[in-house]
Amino acid sequence: PPPPPAPMPRIFRSKLPDIDIPNHLPLHTYCFEKLSSVSDKPCLIVGSTGKSYTYGETHLICRRVASGLYKLGIRKGDVIMILLQNSAEFVFSFMGASMIGAVSTTANPFYTCQEIYKQLQSSGAKLIITHSQYVDKLKTLGENLTVITTDEPTPENCLPFSTLITDDETNPFQETVDIGGDDAAALPFSSGTTGLPKGVVLTHKSLITSVAQQVDGDNPNLYLKSNDVLLCVLPLFHIYSLNSVLLNSLRSGATVLLMHKFEIGALLDLIQRHRVTIAALVPPLVIALAKNPTVNSYDLSSVRLVLSGAAPLGKELQDSLRRRLPQAILGQGYGMTEAGPVLSMSLGFAKEPMPTKSGSCGTVVRNAELKVVHLETRLSLGYNQPGEICIRGQQIMKEYLNDPEATSATIDEEGWLHTGDIGYVDEDDEIFIVDRLKEVPPAELESLLINHHSIADAAVVPQNDEVAGEVPVAFVVRSNGNDITEEDIKEYVAKQVVFYKRLHKVFFVASIPKSPSGKILRKDLKAKLC
Ligand code: AMP
Repeated sequence: PPPPPAPMPRIFRSKLPDIDIPNHLPLHTYCFEKLSSVSDKPCLIVGSTGKSYTYGETHLICRRVASGLYKLGIRKGDVIMILLQNSAEFVFSFMGASMIGAVSTTANPFYTCQEIYKQLQSSGAKLIITHSQYVDKLKTLGENLTVITTDEPTPENCLPFSTLITDDETNPFQETVDIGGDDAAALPFSSGTTGLPKGVVLTHKSLITSVAQQVDGDNPNLYLKSNDVLLCVLPLFHIYSLNSVLLNSLRSGATVLLMHKFEIGALLDLIQRHRVTIAALVPPLVIALAKNPTVNSYDLSSVRLVLSGAAPLGKELQDSLRRRLPQAILGQGYGMTEAGPVLSMSLGFAKEPMPTKSGSCGTVVRNAELKVVHLETRLSLGYNQPGEICIRGQQIMKEYLNDPEATSATIDEEGWLHTGDIGYVDEDDEIFIVDRLKEVPPAELESLLINHHSIADAAVVPQNDEVAGEVPVAFVVRSNGNDITEEDIKEYVAKQVVFYKRLHKVFFVASIPKSPSGKILRKDLKAKLC
């Protein structure tokens, strides 16, 4: 008999229709396209000082910074490093660089000297824009490097940020720079599914496509309206905040409230004072909002949407936040730096009231295709079958910088980006992340632990085991003043999970180490086990 026909690849698409995306434009033109209609509206508010910039002022300063960078010799294709916490200068630098076709590599200012050096070397950045408190880390990095600091007084051998804005205010930046969709705009660093951090080349086209997938469409301002105020507490050096908070907001004419660091009291105060309507968060901040008793003393009634992303948000935590902020729609976005970054988001944002299920990361964004492949056969799977999530579309990265081998291991010949995440799509097209490849499934256990009233925070990591290969162990932060024991916790979990997911050990710690973007630093915890 003839061989059975090969199974049709199962490709998941958005329930929303595709749209025309103007991704031939440069990013700054696209983001400021509606400038004339929002010119006098607040664009940026600096939380710590209350200083605000209208859209007109923001655009003008960005153009002056473009001119200043040009005068310092930065040209199309050159890389600058932005080593800053959230600040107005971060925004001016990023958009100013885009205007001359330069590429911004964003880095965590808390990196060590070596980490900064590696990113600098690998990105080829010629100029760094930073704050004086980080300058000591740059001293050994090379004499040809121009260092610009955003605060006063300016340290020795650095230039003040005002150097970049000396241009004629009425007519800044005269040069014409021809920028194409395939030109790089941002160069964040990510380890991807394996190996060391690599430069992720995100082009003007990828970033515009990603922003359009989230906020453009027939239903103008899909989930963002121009009178929205977005909380920007997640670090802009991570693509989640840069894209889904800053760029989305600029495109929609909304206001970005910048917080340079997370502190629960200040955050609640700012939400109340500036009537924040949208809070983009990561699970550790969701924990704070869901569990911290001080939340009850503030008026958070202005918040209409809470978006959580970057790491799994379990159903229990999602449900506790829903109880705390009953008026807000709560949803997840699922992103990966290499994916441009957003793969999926809750459709509840688009058509209220249509909230997605707890634990779901929403449905795939428009103008994109998603598939789930079997880990061994690599065949596309149907509904409810877990496998590796792959995404295809104009929003994904162009490549890893100077690393064709890592690029071809991540983006296959048909243009599918392999995420290394294991998940499934349910019959309503909603995406659920089960885990990352080759890890003990921690998300489910963490979600159970965090839901315990005596546990303030928790992380689960795999420990090598002669018999089972890997077994889960937990690091737990007790909530104030209780004496819950290891046995209590093991028993609590054992009652709720299949035998192989039971905890083998529990370590009590003061806090769970997390990256600024909210991911648990599992490597640090695993190192404690050795
Ligand atoms: P990054 O490149 O730093 O943004 O990290 C991307 C990874 O974060 C993804 O490949 C996922 O493993 C994880 N991630 C992002 N968003 C979610 C989410 N909503 N649920 C579960 N994991 C997520």
